[in-house]
Amino acid sequence: MMKKVPIRNLTFSRLQNYLEQKEQKPFRFRQLCNWLYKKYCVDFEEMTTISKKFRSELAEDFLPLSIFVEKRLQEEGAEKYLFRTLDGHSFESVVIYDQQRTTLCISSQIGCPLKCAFCRTGEVPFQRNLTQAEILEQYVLIHRQLLPERQITNLVFMCMGEPLLNYKNLVRALKIMLAEEGFCISGRRITVSTVGIVPALRKLGEEQLGIQPAISLNAPFNSLRSKLMPVNEKYPLHQVIRAARQFPLAPRRRLTFEYVLLGGTNDSLAHADKLVKLVKPTRAKVNLIPLNDYPGCPFTPPSPEAVEEFEKYLRDHHVSTFVRKSKGQGVYAACGQLTARYLEKK
Ligand code: SF4
Repeated sequence: MMKKVPIRNLTFSRLQNYLEQKEQKPFRFRQLCNWLYKKYCVDFEEMTTISKKFRSELAEDFLPLSIFVEKRLQEEGAEKYLFRTLDGHSFESVVIYDQQRTTLCISSQIGCPLKCAFCRTGEVPFQRNLTQAEILEQYVLIHRQLLPERQITNLVFMCMGEPLLNYKNLVRALKIMLAEEGFCISGRRITVSTVGIVPALRKLGEEQLGIQPAISLNAPFNSLRSKLMPVNEKYPLHQVIRAARQFPLAPRRRLTFEYVLLGGTNDSLAHADKLVKLVKPTRAKVNLIPLNDYPGCPFTPPSPEAVEEFEKYLRDHHVSTFVRKSKGQGVYAACGQLTARYLEKK
């Protein structure tokens, strides 16, 4: 007997093979995908255009879901979801509202092995990679909560974990997100945020998926970056920036660099000057993210004046710069914060 697997763990070709084995007509593939990826179905009984007999066969062979919403915290402009997996782990996703835009920050791992010094996810013990289904189901379950009032417009792999350390499941999930039979999201609306795992970044570029990378820099000097992000010892700045420049971008798109501003650590004009020199030769924009601190955080947020001066310095040197407004402090929207609090209380 076939072991029950979550149905969204199947690639399209495996799903087609299964349907052929079951002697289903070719139209069944599109019909099933429609329920799974357009109607966000979480129970085979909801699939009313499919015969009762085949619905019960699906239920015998597959699980309709492999994660469950354990907690939902809302405040103006942001929402955070804590999920529970079948093997009892917790992880989270964040939704950020901004005028016309609804951005889902999606997780790729449970915990994160990279332990960046300013990130609370680093405190959550790394457990494992999320499966293809667990990645896709974040979108499904959150969309079910938001519809019909809101529709997710943008997707960012930026919550818990380093997506390029979960390469196989990330790419499989991305292919379903992009496909016409899948979520059918434009690649221009999907961003994969990474510290710059150089070989995986190159490979992702070769896949030609049309998605956008965002490179998390956070320091313009190797010595400081290695202190903040130990992964820099393995993939130093010049290697990361070279791989980022080679990433194929959609026409008129710019590379995104992310820079978390830490008060008195990386927010001086000397840092801004070096940052300009690093990113200027590239068609790039810089997202400045003032630290969203948390109890026990070893860094302090930058002063508003430091943020303003840093931003002005970059703009004066013709680098497109955006300051990301801090949303969701009430729901602990800095990555990993909800899970860390939840684990504290257990
Ligand atoms: S910032 Fe990203 S890569 Fe670094 S520890 Fe946090 S989740 Fe991991």
